[in-house]
Amino acid sequence: MSADSSSDSAAQDRLCVYERGSHPVSRKHISDNALKVISRLTRSGHEAYLVGGAIRDLFLGNQPKDFDVATNATPEQVHDLFRNSRIIGRRFRIVHVRFGREIIEVTTFRGGHGTGDGESETPRPRGQAAVRSDSGMLLRDNVYGNLEEDALRRDFSINALYYDARDFTVLDYTDGVTDLNDHLIRIIGDPEERYREDPVRMLRAARFAARLNFSLEEHTAAPLVQLSDLLDDVPAARLFDEVLKSLMTGSGKDTFDVLAEYQLLAPLFPSLARHMATDNGYARKLSELALSSTDRRIGQEKPVTPAFLFAALLWPEVVHKQKIYEQDGMPPTPALNAAAQDALAEQSDATTIPRRFSTVVRDIWELQLRLPRRSGKRVQQTFEHRRFRAAYDFILLREEAGDNLDGVGQWWTEYQETHPAPVRTSTEPQPRRRRPRNRKHRNQ
Ligand code: ATP
Ligand code: MG
Repeated sequence: MSADSSSDSAAQDRLCVYERGSHPVSRKHISDNALKVISRLTRSGHEAYLVGGAIRDLFLGNQPKDFDVATNATPEQVHDLFRNSRIIGRRFRIVHVRFGREIIEVTTFRGGHGTGDGESETPRPRGQAAVRSDSGMLLRDNVYGNLEEDALRRDFSINALYYDARDFTVLDYTDGVTDLNDHLIRIIGDPEERYREDPVRMLRAARFAARLNFSLEEHTAAPLVQLSDLLDDVPAARLFDEVLKSLMTGSGKDTFDVLAEYQLLAPLFPSLARHMATDNGYARKLSELALSSTDRRIGQEKPVTPAFLFAALLWPEVVHKQKIYEQDGMPPTPALNAAAQDALAEQSDATTIPRRFSTVVRDIWELQLRLPRRSGKRVQQTFEHRRFRAAYDFILLREEAGDNLDGVGQWWTEYQETHPAPVRTSTEPQPRRRRPRNRKHRNQ
């Protein structure tokens, strides 16, 4: 290391260079494709570094799941260099360079963007201006800058380390290495301002704290509860993606607990947050059981579907609404369907739920009415239902969470032991099949 890395805030802007041998990042753990991208960019006269989660994970001794590259080349310049690339994003333009199944994400260095009042911003001919909403949210962030500026506009210090493949050094402008050693998630810059720019950073803070088992640094944690409402302004489709990254990547239960601790659940799952605030612990228990089961399956590399999680997280609301409809005189099945409709509609205002998942969620719920019927020829039909397995797993969770269902789970466990498994299609979403090409259209 060639610079002092004391952690007072004045040191934040100071560059620490970790020489080869004084850090654990080694080429042999880096994807060849990422190295290829970096090498072509540098040979063409640009700067290019490996950055973000990959460097963080290599420091922690974990194998990175993907590789991000930062460069001073513009997205167009990157695209021109790689035939196998696409410019994506509007709010934040980046380039995807594809090598078979692997995608290397290349971002152009972002610059600072003043206060957003338009007057203090220096004109920057190389990128478009940043566009903000009234609350300070960055609606578009394509202001380009240099390496140091890029480091300072990343989210957390541990995500702002750069590996230079030319001389094998790691560059640290934000005391990220110190925070990695101290197991701290520290937001870069003024926490409130950074959360206002992009409220999703609040969810990312919770996710990294849970996944890495790190603590949230005091100032990083302080504004979370107060600012959680800002997430209401984030597009529902982006929040759905964040929910998947938070709850479906192996540390879902722990992430859920951190989100609950900082009151970040309400913008994601409004009905669940209401029930968690008022019931006797059932909603939380059911959610945590479903999340732990998903985490376990991911650990065993078994398939998982968000439908199962959404079925659990929204179930308390379905039960609540179903009761109201039944009190109004509706029979149980239409009451459940009406309740399902309401619960899914409210949820899709918060996070979208693609139809391929919501239909499975409805099936799992509907089967909760059919599983308790244990006589007649409908029993075998229930058993043959393509969502039987998910619905059965779900009823076991309900019992574990405290629902008294007169031993129905056990009854179905025994039924399966004495009856051959019917041929049914999987409860998991099938890999998307290529649509047969329509020759007529192609030739037109
Ligand atoms: P993961 O292991 O989940 O991929 P990651 O840190 O690589 O973690 P990405 O979402 O792939 O996360 O983002 C890559 C990098 O881009 C981050 O490490 C961070 O430096 C930066 N980044 C991502 N999202 C934001 C954001 N909302 N605000 C600021 N910087 C961000
Ligand atoms: Mg990444």
